[in-house]
Order: sequence, then C-alpha cells, then structure tokens
Amino acid sequence: MSVNLQTPIDYLKGVGPNRADLLRSELGIHTYQDLINLFPNRYIDRTKYYAINQLQRNNAEVQVIGVLTGFREVAQKRGKRLVADFKDESGMMELVWFRGQKWIRESLKIGQPYVAFGRANLYNGKFSMPHPELELQSEHEKNLRSAMQAIYPSTEKLTNKGITNRVITKVMQQLFLETKGQFFETLSHSILGELKLMSKSDALFNIHFPKSSDLLSRAQFRLKFEELFYIQLQLILKNLIHKSKIKGFKFEKVGDYFNTFYREHLPFELTNAQKRVLKEIRADFGSNAQMNRLLQGDVGSGKTIVAFMSMLMGLDNGFQCCLMAPTEILSVQHYNGLSELCNKLNISISILTGSSKTLERKIIHENLENGSLQILIGTHALLEDKVKFKNLGLAIIDEQHRFGVAQRSKLWKKNSSPPHIMVMTATPIPRTLAMSVYGDLDISVIDELPAGRKPIKTVHRYDKNRLNVFRFMKDEIAKGRQVYVVYPLIQESEKMDYKDLMDGYESISREFPLPQYQISIVHGKMKASDKDYEMQRFAKGQTQIMVATTVIEVGVNVPNASVMVIESAERFGLSQLHQLRGRVGRGAEQSYCILMTSHKLSNDSKTRLETMVRSHDGFEIAEVDLKLRGPGDVMGTQQSGVLNLRIADIVKDKSILDQARFMAKNTLKIDPSLALPENKAILSTYRQMAKYKNIWNYIS
Ligand code: ADP
Ligand code: MG
Repeated sequence: MSVNLQTPIDYLKGVGPNRADLLRSELGIHTYQDLINLFPNRYIDRTKYYAINQLQRNNAEVQVIGVLTGFREVAQKRGKRLVADFKDESGMMELVWFRGQKWIRESLKIGQPYVAFGRANLYNGKFSMPHPELELQSEHEKNLRSAMQAIYPSTEKLTNKGITNRVITKVMQQLFLETKGQFFETLSHSILGELKLMSKSDALFNIHFPKSSDLLSRAQFRLKFEELFYIQLQLILKNLIHKSKIKGFKFEKVGDYFNTFYREHLPFELTNAQKRVLKEIRADFGSNAQMNRLLQGDVGSGKTIVAFMSMLMGLDNGFQCCLMAPTEILSVQHYNGLSELCNKLNISISILTGSSKTLERKIIHENLENGSLQILIGTHALLEDKVKFKNLGLAIIDEQHRFGVAQRSKLWKKNSSPPHIMVMTATPIPRTLAMSVYGDLDISVIDELPAGRKPIKTVHRYDKNRLNVFRFMKDEIAKGRQVYVVYPLIQESEKMDYKDLMDGYESISREFPLPQYQISIVHGKMKASDKDYEMQRFAKGQTQIMVATTVIEVGVNVPNASVMVIESAERFGLSQLHQLRGRVGRGAEQSYCILMTSHKLSNDSKTRLETMVRSHDGFEIAEVDLKLRGPGDVMGTQQSGVLNLRIADIVKDKSILDQARFMAKNTLKIDPSLALPENKAILSTYRQMAKYKNIWNYIS
C-alpha cells in the first residue's frame, strides 16, 4: 500500500492545521488511521424528505427540501439571532442561527432550492430548525452516493467551528480516495471463510458509506467480531502464557482429611454444582500449573464448604491454606463455622484480624512459620509482611471485589512460588462481562441452590405503610424470628434526604420497647469489638432486631433471621439489594424482604424494585443491573478493555462475543504461538495491539 496510515491528519487534503488541531483535541484523531476508525454513531436515510406540514414535534432529525425566502434579525436577551423563512409547497418553517450569522448571510442564496438537515422543533407554534446543515438541492443529489448517511460522533466545539458532519464525511471521502480504500486484512482466511465475513477493506468502506442496510450490517458484524476477537485472543493468550510459565504446586493426592470429612462429617449432601466445581478445582490442583480461579455463586449457594474442602486437599498434600475475608465480622463467622469442622478432623486453625492482641499475633506468626498452624482465617491483616507461612499452598479470597488488585497480588508472594489462588464472589457477573473482564481467569459457577430453600417473598412498600410493616415485624418476632432493618449509610455529612440511621433506631426503639424487645445496632463507625459484640448478641438470639447499615451486606449468616427490611431501598444498587436480601432465607422458615421507599421514584429505581420483587436469580438481576448502569459500574471492568469498545456492545452483542471467543480459542488450540503462515495477519495485528495497548491502533 502506498499511503502510510500513521501519517498525521494535517496532511490529508481538506484538513489543514486548524481543523487538525480540533480533530486532535476534540476526537483524539491524530493520524489517518485514527480517522478511518472513527465509526459513525448512527445512520440516517438521506433519501427520505419531509414536507413541512408532516413534521412531528418529536425533535427528530429530518431533511426538508425548500426555498429560502429571506433573512431577518431578531433581537434577544443577548445579541441577536438570524432567522430565515424556509418554504415548501406544504408550508413554512424557520431556520435559525445564533452564531456565524455574517457568513451564513453571505453564503446562502435566496430563492434557490436547498436541502435542510437538522432537528426541527416547535417554537412559538412554528417549526424551526436551529443551525441546519444546508446543501443546494442540485449538490445534494450529485453527492448522494447511498441512501444511508453516516452520522459521526461530534462535540459542540466542533460544530461551532464549522466542522459539521458533512465536513467529516468529506474528509473521510478524501481519505478513501488517497488510500484507494485498500486496507490491511487483519483476520485469517479461514476465519473469514468460516464465518463468511466481509473483508477489512469492504467493511471499512461500508461502515462509512453503506450501500445498503444489508451491507451495513455485514460491515458492522465484521468489525464488532474483530474487536471482540482480539480482546478474547489477548485474554486467552495471557492465560495460556501464565499456565506455561508459572509453575504451581502440584497436589498429588486426595488424602485422609478430605476423604474422612467427605465420608463422616459432611453436614449435608453437596449439590451437583458444588460437586462439579470441586472437580474443576481438583483438576487444577493436579496439573502443574498454578490455579487462578474465580468461583461465582449466588448468595447462599454454598461457596464456603467448597472453599473448605479445597483447603482439605491442600492439607492432604502437606500445605498450609488461608482464607481472607473483607470484614472482621465475616472473618469471625468463617472462623467459627470452620473451627467446628476442623475440631472434628484435628486440624489447627486460627484467626488474625486488626484486633488480634499482640500475644495472639506472636503465637500465630510462630506457628505459621514452623508449620504447626494449618489454616489461617483473617482480614487483610493476613497480607502484612510479618505474616510468613512455612508452606502456603492455597489462598482463598472471599468477596473478592472488596479487595484491590494490589492486595490480591501480595498473596502471590507468600511462598517461594505463588500458591494456588481462588477468589470467590457472590455478586454474579453477567456471563459476557465475566468472559471479557475475567477472561484470563478460569471461572467456576455454582448455579444451583441447596435443595429445600424457600424463595424469599419480596415486596415493595411505601413509607406511609410503615405501621403495617411494624405490625408484620411484631408478628414474625412473636413467632420467634429475627428481623434486620437496614439503612443506606451513616455519614453525617451526607444526611439530607437519607433516612438517618439514628433516627430510625430511635423510632424503632419507641415502637419496640424494652423489655419485651431487644435491639442491636451495628454501623461502620463503631469499634470492631463493639460491632462484634452486637453481632454476636443477634446471632445468639438475644436481640430480635438488628438495625444496621450495609456492613451486614457481606456474608453474615444468622439462619433464624427471616425478615429483611431495607429502608430507602431506592438508594441501593441492584446487586447490593440482592446481597442484602441474601442475609435472610438461610433457615427453614419462610423469609421476607420488604423494600421501603418514598413515593418519588425515578424510572431506574422503579425497574430495580420491580426486578427485585420479580426475580431471585442473581444472574438475571446482574443482567438487568448491567443494562441499567452499563459496564462501567460493574466491578472489575475498569481494568479491562470492555469500556474502550469502539463498535461492539457488551450487552447487545452477546452472540458475536460467543463466536469471537470460540474462534480465538480455536485459533490458539491449533496454533498456540500463532506461527503458521495462515495466522500471520493475526500475529502482527496482535503485536501492534499489545504495543499500543489499544485494539484499534493496528491497521497498517
Ligand atoms: P455463600 O455461597 O453465600 O457463601 P454459604 O457457604 O454461607 O453461602 O452457605 C449458605 C448456607 O447453606 C450455610 O448455612 C451452609 O451450611 C448451607 N449449605 C451449603 N451447601 C449446602 C448443601 N449442599 N445443602 C444444604 N445446605 C448447604
Ligand atoms: Mg459466603
């Protein structure tokens, strides 16, 4: 090819230094290549024209053919606006300019037919179109190459400086002229053939100048596929390289600890999903590679027992194991639950948190180093440099989204070579997103709840029904159950319309007086030991009501609690609501979740509440959450490429993503180092992309 696509955009005919500066600063377009990868936001049908009396008051973009009959200036608060009457056979509308009036007056011709393109809105009973794009009808017809006209991303500044959509289209045409529309093919022949994909050059042409809607959708498919393919290729390669480079500790056998526990002490039958996941983990341990596994499972799906049994495999092979949880409460709870099981097997287990006493710490440090301590549970206190293991084989992180990447990587250094790592999360991530964000981890999913769980009845109530809700709470307490009442936050600075936790606590104390009722309160500003004391009182059944902020969101397990009241539920995100609801429904009794809100609800809040009432499926809820918030707010996405997607949409293009992942896997299965001549284009594209850290920076 003759034209170098790295040529600065200034050199393109029709651009020049001023426009080049604007393109750089406003759209990040520095080179020819950047321009070619400026994909349109949408397309409009340029063969469709509206008569003025057909215009609707929906502010849509329309094209109208008419004649300019004259200009006038209208004074307004600041300066003046230029108005032109624009007439067709059916009626009259106004074209309006607030800027560039002198130039407009000089360049437009009265009495000639023009095509006006823009948004028509109703103003003072008349349709008007501010800052239309105008083209002489004769020119318009000459330029009309295809029915569909690309509309490019733009900014106010660009429009103000006269870089309209038409200018960008012209510049794009020039680019195709200079390059003759010939671009380097970035996919292999076999992929192109198998999926019947358009060539790169055809796809680029049709994305900018679609000849038909059919060709446009094929062009879009091809480019979306390509984008997703390279993200997947990168993730899978990372995983492969990791597996071949980093040797893991091989756990040769399943031994006595595991088998004895399985045969004699397992308190229930494992679900099929738990069994399957344990097999997947076992396979990792038995290979030579270091495990990096994400274990996803909805609240209550039984991840803890899977974690424990995985640790038993480690102990069976002479290794130590640790389990790290984000809060003290949760660590204590894990410790209490697992100590019971460990006692039966004569396994030594300890807990280390921020509030561990100096002496306890000293003993733990010693026993870890001499190897007599087998399992250590704790908070991020585990990460401290002083905490040294004799032989750590497996590190498990519960509720991993609460930890930063840096914290996680510290665990890697806790042995001579990295221990196996398992991260667990109860915040389901939609599959497509998991594939793109955690595509370099292996993923296991517990997609089945233990048998016999009664679905939690979820209702939405308005604040004015509070008395009924109190009555319901009393009935449940009379049956011997316990109740959570959760408030959004406790931060004096953000009080305003938030229900203040303390107000709530007072009103509940009035409604549920001593000595008949006992109330616990837990919030983020309490000392850890006080929190723990209150949690324990509630867990032991000494108090009937737990008033709390979201500190109880994560993992807490009190099976006798059967009612979850969430105050100002409209303030919570979907996944958080789902997590909170997961605190009840852990025992045999029918459980309830009551979402309290004010009357004023946004559409998104309504959708969230309806979704909670309708669904119990964490994955379904996560899908809705993704649609509402977009991938940017879903955990883990920040570090991944999904936010930089230029043309594919992680929510809408699921099936393309599946095909892309399949093809990427397949390609690497046949040719792991991309050494075959057939894959030359893929290899060089991949290298470019790795070099520039941008997947659209590679066509050459
Ligand atoms: P999560 O996945 O939310 O961490 P847990 O591990 O805390 O869930 O398990 C929730 C509850 O379900 C616990 O009380 C646990 O003992 C119980 N459980 C786990 N697996 C099973 C099973 N296969 N059958 C019955 N109960 C189970
Ligand atoms: Mg848990």
